[in-house]
Amino acid sequence: MMAKNDWTPVSVKKALLSQVQRALPTPMVKDLGLNNMSEFVDYALRETLGKIELKRFSHISTDGARVCILDSRVEPIGRLVSVMFHDDDVWCEYCDENVCVHIQYVWEIPEVRKALEKRNLKRPTSRPPAATGNKK
Ligand SMILES: [Zn+2]
Repeated sequence: MMAKNDWTPVSVKKALLSQVQRALPTPMVKDLGLNNMSEFVDYALRETLGKIELKRFSHISTDGARVCILDSRVEPIGRLVSVMFHDDDVWCEYCDENVCVHIQYVWEIPEVRKALEKRNLKRPTSRPPAATGNKK
């Protein structure tokens, strides 16, 4: 459970607030595990951030176990980033890491995920960067 001081008040239009209050007791909202306004707003913001993050990247190509994506946030005009998969390991040539936003993104591309799973490559677990080089 999150500590109370991890939260901050946010202003929301009253009409929108009423809509959320009506939606809270519905099965669809309950199924999402949302029990109150704070959880609902938290969920909505995370969903939106996820969509924004997806727009940051675009899939360019997949060649064997090498996936090429465009990261539009690398200055000045974006940069092609390669993510390489080998056995059960994965590497981002740009970040020089095995845990990063690029690796997370390529696993969200359905055709890439399918291709990688066909090669028996497994989705990398979100190991903290400190675990780098500490492979089994
Ligand atoms: Zn990366």
